[in-house]
Amino acid sequence: MPPANTPLDGADLSTLTDRQQAWFTTARGPVSVRRYARYSDSIHAAVRSGNGRDRAALLTFHPGAYPLAPAWLAAIAEAAPETADHRRPSAAMSSVRLLARMTPDHRNGIPRQSDGSVGWSMPGASARVWPDGRIALCGTTGTELTGCLEGSEWDHWKVAAVADAGLRLLCTPEARHLTRTGQPSGWYRPFDRGHSTGLGRERKGGQMYDGSTGASCSCGWSATAASQLGARALAEIHRREATGGAPG
Ligand SMILES: [Zn+2]
Repeated sequence: MPPANTPLDGADLSTLTDRQQAWFTTARGPVSVRRYARYSDSIHAAVRSGNGRDRAALLTFHPGAYPLAPAWLAAIAEAAPETADHRRPSAAMSSVRLLARMTPDHRNGIPRQSDGSVGWSMPGASARVWPDGRIALCGTTGTELTGCLEGSEWDHWKVAAVADAGLRLLCTPEARHLTRTGQPSGWYRPFDRGHSTGLGRERKGGQMYDGSTGASCSCGWSATAASQLGARALAEIHRREATGGAPG
């Protein structure tokens, strides 16, 4: 067995032999990986919770996903809760869908399957999450990142982070930067914000207009501008800069 201090980042899992188990380190915690190569090739990986003792996720990979597995496993370790019990996640799957950054939109009304699962898709990839912690991310080229998140400490932010990380690996390069622009903050009473005089336009009743608008991107980038037009422009500049170089 290789020493436990091999970094997972950049590891080539296809070099493991049949039934070989290896421990890798991530920025957060250890990940154990075992390959079964004799009959049908696959890798089973276990991610520990933050305390390093409990298993927080169990993932399965087929050869097409071996190159993507280290990056996804590291992201799962990063998002993993501090402890893990044997219960299902506390996350509401429709909330996971709403929190996911890797999605083209957040339309109202999230269709749920009869098994309680919620799915969505974006250019090049799709996701489905189940209330029992199962998660399946599929690239349109057939690559799959699948597994089960274990323990009630998995809330919707943590599950969304796991889904986002996998979709970022599977989606088309353009889809890694899906920007969206919010609504201006709008009319407010300066009194509500704890100051008696505000900057900006004033109307009857002492209300002030605040045009500041946020823009964000599926890669995690975000910014605020003084107006919605300004926010749109910032998003456009970010998208151009982020995708302007070589795709990837
Ligand atoms: Zn971006």
